[in-house]
Amino acid sequence: MSRTIVVNLRTLAPIWTGDVDRTSEQAKETSLMGSVRWWTEVLVRGLGGYACDPTGDDRCSFDEVAYHRTGEAEDGLRDVCPTCRLFGCTGWSSKLRLLLTDGEGGYEVNLSQPGVSFVMNFVELKPTEPEERWLLAKAVWLITRYGSLGGKTTLKPPQPDYGLVALASPLRLPTGMTRKDVQAWLARILDASPRMQERLRRAPPEWPDLRLFFFNTARWLDRSQVNELVRVDPSGFLSGRRGVSKKVFSFQTVSRFWGYARDEGMLEKVLATLQRLGVADTRTGKEVLDEL
Ligand SMILES: [Zn+2]
Repeated sequence: MSRTIVVNLRTLAPIWTGDVDRTSEQAKETSLMGSVRWWTEVLVRGLGGYACDPTGDDRCSFDEVAYHRTGEAEDGLRDVCPTCRLFGCTGWSSKLRLLLTDGEGGYEVNLSQPGVSFVMNFVELKPTEPEERWLLAKAVWLITRYGSLGGKTTLKPPQPDYGLVALASPLRLPTGMTRKDVQAWLARILDASPRMQERLRRAPPEWPDLRLFFFNTARWLDRSQVNELVRVDPSGFLSGRRGVSKKVFSFQTVSRFWGYARDEGMLEKVLATLQRLGVADTRTGKEVLDEL
């Protein structure tokens, strides 16, 4: 019997899933799944595991040769990172399909308004591990508690807010699973693949890692504050450029901002600047990891 992981949500700001009014249900699902995947990658890296960049040159692929030698899927997956195992990569389809429904179970979901109830149904197409379900639930928790969902969160204020969602009922986690268990599981996947260890060593520091994030759920930043913040980084990583998103996202609707640095030094500078701007109660990704 296939399992469905049900997440009940409510929009606090519209969710951008492409062209909100005209996009198909499937396009919405693809877009939201991509966002959940992105936060799962962030979390896996934050826990010391390896998550590839699924849009990059060094993305994972299923090893058909190794698989055909033994007939064991695990052999084909040896060098496939935990997020690709869950969400799919070349030669390996996703273990989950996202099905969106409205509060009453209908299939037409309008995410372009605040205050809309909707359900993310993650339908199992292949059996998932409890560690994977823990990662998925915690990624959704991060989105609702500290982050945002979907595209267009990258616009500078005073653009309207997008992608804010609240949990409408508590998340269900696999029983008995702890952060330490998941860390140990990620370490075992890495231990089993010398190739993945090598890819982790040469992973670009630009890849978002929860340990280098900063979050604030009591304040938002106006345009001049965002500009002042990104100026601490002369390399331009924080400010982004044409085709590359900036790394600070602010939401007036719920008084929230979040972002990420490339390294510890940059994070320190961001935190010091926030202090100078009189912005208190910013949490680091490491503090948030301790909450998981
Ligand atoms: Zn991967």
